[in-house]
Amino acid sequence: MTALPSRALISRSAFEHNLGVVRAKTDSKIMAIIKADGYGHGAVRIAQWAWEDGVEWLGLAQLSEGVWLRRQHPHGRVFSWIYSPGTDFVTPIELGMDISIGADWAIDEIAAAAREVGQPVRVHIKVDTGMARGGFDLDRLPEVLPRFKALADEGIFELVGLWSHLACGDMPSTSNYTEVQVAKFEQARMAVRDAGITVQLHHLAASSGVMWHPQTHYDMVRPGIMLYGLSPNPAEAYAHELGLRAVMQVEADLILARDVPAGTGVTYGHTYVTDKPTRLAVVPVGYADGIIRSSSNKATVTHRGRRAPIRGVVCMDQFVIEAPGAQAGDTVVLFGDANDGHETAERWAEIAGSIDFEIVCKIGERIPRISVD
Ligand SMILES: *Cc1c(COP(=O)(O)O)cnc(C)c1O
Repeated sequence: MTALPSRALISRSAFEHNLGVVRAKTDSKIMAIIKADGYGHGAVRIAQWAWEDGVEWLGLAQLSEGVWLRRQHPHGRVFSWIYSPGTDFVTPIELGMDISIGADWAIDEIAAAAREVGQPVRVHIKVDTGMARGGFDLDRLPEVLPRFKALADEGIFELVGLWSHLACGDMPSTSNYTEVQVAKFEQARMAVRDAGITVQLHHLAASSGVMWHPQTHYDMVRPGIMLYGLSPNPAEAYAHELGLRAVMQVEADLILARDVPAGTGVTYGHTYVTDKPTRLAVVPVGYADGIIRSSSNKATVTHRGRRAPIRGVVCMDQFVIEAPGAQAGDTVVLFGDANDGHETAERWAEIAGSIDFEIVCKIGERIPRISVD
């Protein structure tokens, strides 16, 4: 099919299935989160699929990412929330983007840019309900909201949304903190209303909220990880238990296979020594491609329908597996969907002491993404 020695297959049918899971959980509008190049799946591709499936809203964390995407995907709405003082706000305003504001300096700079453009900027007011990351504290709202109101009355701001983000939504069985955040979000809603401001879209929930906290759905939900077929928290439930299907399957073609005797040390430091005559094979991707090095001697790949363990440490461009019967040119699957019998990104995360988000995000650019079905 291709001469490349490795690839990440990106399944449209799996994505559409997962979108169906979101829709079965909520009637709210959906903002598909495609930050970090669509969690490594290719933001433009995912944006297109989402749009064709009726998703109007896209979210990309960095404003510059949002601008980049907006230029290639001139449909629907694009929302971003990370930028620094001195950012060019003129371009995103001209492009009609939706921008979060959660800091005083941002009110000033974005209002100035909107004046310059001569066109109102679409604003979502961000409140901090418990992340201690971005957003206005509740006790500052009485002072800040009149500024938003004045700029809206002046035609500089179009106030579209009020939003916040959950800190512990992915821990439904061990934390009640989401209730605290919902209560604070309700206070913020009241403060906005009392300030004479009307916004159409209140949004609070990411995947964990979609999955586990219906009271957080409000007017719009912002799923990311579940659209890619991975669990918000595998310690609560694996993706296949949540009815999700992995969108990404990472494969590579073996470049070498050979038999070695018992007592053979494998790769740097000989952290693995064969205890019997062993068939070893070489997989041509490594930690430079995001194959996390702490999976050394722990993770397995699928070879001819069987699990083949990593032997020795993962190197920069390659690693070694034990795979009886392996031949150069055989394809192995590093991770994919559990229902297909593959290791999952979730399991790699557990093994490597990471989270599934990081496993897929870090799959490097040298591994080409290929859309399938
Ligand atoms: C990343 C992110 C999301 C999506 O989170 P998932 O857990 O991947 O669903 C939603 N909202 C904000 C603000 C985010 O940063």
